[in-house]
Amino acid sequence: MRKEIPYKIYLAEDELPRQWYNVRADMKNKPAPLLNPDTRLPITEDELSAVFCRELARQELDDVNPYIDIPEPLIDFYRMYRPAPLVRAYCLEQKLDTPAHIYYKFEGNNTSGSHKLNSAIAQAYYAKQQGLAGVTTETGAGQWGTALSMACSYFDLDCRVYMVKVSHDQKPHRREVMRTYGASVTPSPSDTTEVGRKILAAHPGTGGSLGCAISEAVEAAVTSGGKYRYVLGSVLSQVLLHQSIIGLETKAALDKYGVKPDIIIGCAGGGSNLGGLISPFMGEMLRGEAEYRFIAVEPASCPTLTRGVYAYDYCDTGMICPLAKMYTLGSSFMPAPMHAGGLRYHGMTPVLSQLCADGLMEATSVTQTSVFDAAVTFARVEGILPAPESSHAIRAAIDEALKCKETGEQKTILFGLTGTGYFDMAAYGRHNDGSLTDYIPTDEEIAASLAQLPVVE
Ligand SMILES: *Cc1c(COP(=O)(O)O)cnc(C)c1O
Repeated sequence: MRKEIPYKIYLAEDELPRQWYNVRADMKNKPAPLLNPDTRLPITEDELSAVFCRELARQELDDVNPYIDIPEPLIDFYRMYRPAPLVRAYCLEQKLDTPAHIYYKFEGNNTSGSHKLNSAIAQAYYAKQQGLAGVTTETGAGQWGTALSMACSYFDLDCRVYMVKVSHDQKPHRREVMRTYGASVTPSPSDTTEVGRKILAAHPGTGGSLGCAISEAVEAAVTSGGKYRYVLGSVLSQVLLHQSIIGLETKAALDKYGVKPDIIIGCAGGGSNLGGLISPFMGEMLRGEAEYRFIAVEPASCPTLTRGVYAYDYCDTGMICPLAKMYTLGSSFMPAPMHAGGLRYHGMTPVLSQLCADGLMEATSVTQTSVFDAAVTFARVEGILPAPESSHAIRAAIDEALKCKETGEQKTILFGLTGTGYFDMAAYGRHNDGSLTDYIPTDEEIAASLAQLPVVE
């Protein structure tokens, strides 16, 4: 059979987008403002700039400008691994025996192995521009820390990563990638910060948590005498903005072949890859130019959009970051250990939260075992070994394609393949041994955590 559309659509380097697209500009109902955690008033650029780089604080608060120029040095960096391929999943279609057409945008083509590098490099660039010595951050499973260490080494910035202690000890390979790129990696909680020492005194021997690592990273930045700022790999609107390059490239590639997706699917942890992928398409829908179905896929063990509430909450367990109005399970929600570490966040970026609240996007949740089944099906026919996070999107895409098989409809399904799973072989091992389990929180557990939401008038 002759195929009119190639297996991979590659854009040329000179077709790299020159501007990011800020979907907030086209939203009629804007995301609610971030609040200062002390005053509970909308946070100002000056206040945000104490923690974040000045330009990033500006981008965070900009909900009016639709296009923002990508600085030339960033375009040069993007050229190392972008444009990313858009793949027509012919082999998966054949395996599923579905009339649906399936496409995926592959973001795993860089050493860090995920889309997070798209924003890491932007944040490192603005830190360098501001004349800072370096940046601080936290990492759980390690994808963000890895991306940031690559970005910082490129711009010769110091990178201090607070890594959740259990991951630090259990994921030596990611830790060593970070150190190879020159980052310092501190297991959290540590005795290098006030908050770390407090937590260690109260809970000796603790394995740490993401919230605790965030608190340490923020403290390290704000007590650095202005030489460091804190950077974050998801949830914030600035991160979504940077990730819009995923959607812009995808749209340009599809437009070349006159293909219009019916359904656009992405996994959702803090919401940055999904927000970036859907942004230009959502923009068309918001302007009344086209119709799409958007589906956010989350783990059943951390069901933020499907079982959380839309309310102001802390972005971190330490309650020091600004308050955001978002779908949340409560900042004290402790998801059961699972293998898609990048999806274990209690909240969801305010942009996607507002779009969901307005009925412009759907959400679904899937169990861990069904996700690994989909991952293996995909790997065996498409070749790429997907990250467990990305495999949530694969699960939903396969389910939609199988529905098309039932109805005979030839829908076009697009999903985001955010990264590769080479550092997740322990999880694949458990899948291969049949020892993976599913944990779904009870209503009582979620209610207990929601009962601690901050009260905001
Ligand atoms: C971090 C991560 C995610 C989830 O983060 P979002 O901000 O929701 O995109 C998804 N996939 C991979 C591979 C990741 O590393």
